[in-house]
Amino acid sequence: MLNRLLLIYALLLAGMASPSAAAGGDSYTYANYQQVTVSHLHLDLAMDFQQKTLSGFADLQLNWLVQDATEVYLDTRDLTIERVYGKQQDGSWQTVPFKLAARDAVLGSKLTISPAFQPQMLRIHYSSAPEASGLQWLNPEQTAGKTTPFMFSQNQAIHGRSWIPVQDTPAVRMSYSARIQTTDQVLVVMSAPNDPATARDGDYQFYMPQPIPAYLIAIAAGDLQFKAMSEQTGVYAEPYILEASANEFASTQAMIDATEQLYGEYRWGRYDLLILPPSFPFGGMENPVLSFITPTVVAGDGSLVNLIAHELAHSWSGNLVTNATWRDLWLNEGFTSYVENRIMEQVFGSDRAVMEQALSVQALKDELQVLSANDSILHIDLQGRDPDDAFSGVPYTKGQLFLMDLEQQFGRDKFDRFLRQYFADYAFKSIDTATFVNYLDKNLLQQYPGVVSLEQAKAWIYQPGLPAGTPEPQSDAFTQVQQHASNWLAGNSELSSLPTASWTVHEWLYFINNLPLSISPEQMAALDNSFGLTTSTNSEIAHAWYLLALKTGYQQVLPQLEQYLIGIGRRKLIIPLYKQLASTPEGLAFARAVYQQARPGYHPLAQGSVDELLRN
Ligand SMILES: [Zn+2]
Repeated sequence: MLNRLLLIYALLLAGMASPSAAAGGDSYTYANYQQVTVSHLHLDLAMDFQQKTLSGFADLQLNWLVQDATEVYLDTRDLTIERVYGKQQDGSWQTVPFKLAARDAVLGSKLTISPAFQPQMLRIHYSSAPEASGLQWLNPEQTAGKTTPFMFSQNQAIHGRSWIPVQDTPAVRMSYSARIQTTDQVLVVMSAPNDPATARDGDYQFYMPQPIPAYLIAIAAGDLQFKAMSEQTGVYAEPYILEASANEFASTQAMIDATEQLYGEYRWGRYDLLILPPSFPFGGMENPVLSFITPTVVAGDGSLVNLIAHELAHSWSGNLVTNATWRDLWLNEGFTSYVENRIMEQVFGSDRAVMEQALSVQALKDELQVLSANDSILHIDLQGRDPDDAFSGVPYTKGQLFLMDLEQQFGRDKFDRFLRQYFADYAFKSIDTATFVNYLDKNLLQQYPGVVSLEQAKAWIYQPGLPAGTPEPQSDAFTQVQQHASNWLAGNSELSSLPTASWTVHEWLYFINNLPLSISPEQMAALDNSFGLTTSTNSEIAHAWYLLALKTGYQQVLPQLEQYLIGIGRRKLIIPLYKQLASTPEGLAFARAVYQQARPGYHPLAQGSVDELLRN
């Protein structure tokens, strides 16, 4: 598929007037965005929970870049296109011909619109399919309250096209507005300024003034209530978890203040959190103004709020300065992981920040054992695969380590100043890796010669694995945990002498993750009896414990594991468990039986991943 697609793309570009068309192109879009770009999108959609569809029209305001071009290519996936109109100079609408190509498994269907003139605007009447890859529709029974349906979108990487006919590339930014009509049972929110006082009347309007790429357009609806955390921040959630979420994330305002101090003004006005049902396949999604958050981080003790720091950090890295293609994902995620950790240090102190670094680095090193060399490169060659495959620990943690290395080499003062200027210089722009390398060279490497060479920087970005001299975060707390664990495992101390009363969730995670696979079932049982790990309500601790139990044959976790896998759909937490189960025949049988119950509650993205793991 790769070669065919690239060939088609090359032919497409060859026919274009713009000489720079081929440079840095996004191979995951059909859009001819070197000829014409969408500058504003308006959606007028009916949300139908019975049919599980969004239907109505999209107005695309066009900015023509090439004089004689008249065709517009858009991305769609499983959309029904009813009719298309073009707006003429005199303001009148005219029906225009269109053609929907056959569906490509990765890219969807190219929509070719041929007005034979340059319309200022296109109006496309369409509807989404019930199985749209970017939407999940939950029946009332699948929600906590059991009375009201819920729906939400997840556009990243290229799922926006499954509910909007659009130029679905991070290289194109547009402002957007929307009118959504639906039942007055639900409140609709979008990745745009939401008025906390909005009346629940089934008719909702939105206006997002800042230009954002299609992957950041987001919508959700359900029995949502709002609770303010500060004047600027608040939580939208189903009633069952509203108070708990507002308490859990009370540090959000402090995080914003800290990030503004480090990297300049927060440019988006309000910052609200939307707590999604447990089936949300991700930890969080940085939809601007309104981050989408998994309820699995509402732990009761604030132990997992680095996820909020992460999504907030995207308001600078990712949403403000955006990767131009999914090959450049590390520009979003590496910078965000770095900024996240700086926020955590600022708000919660360096001990915790270093523990979180150490846990991430350990996870990355484990992952590098199984990833191909190609997939361990920051500027990844996706080789025609689905861009969702770019999301390993590499763009996140290897990217973070690269920036930590630069910080350590140049010193915090210089590196902070560089990063602050970078966010200012590329605000509301989409850039690729080569652009960053040039910027880095000019504004940091050459400014202070002899510290880091361009070759060294390029090795981080274009070579597989971790370069020599990669920062190794050292946590004193973890060293002590390791000593206590070793003593106990060697039979030199009792479990009761472990100082667990003072352990944080991070220390617990480190402890569990570093127990040897040779640990005996008796030792596992002893730990379980003392600390109730099988019934832990912390989603990360439970995950780590179940994974260890599966690897060491400690069967007692299975009933709780079953509940865990049915109860949540966050891919990071469930996929490794299914993967481990699938490695033995009995495990696979157990996994299939559990999945049969769990699958209807999972998001299409999670279904796709688990289907693949458990198929014959
Ligand atoms: Zn992220």
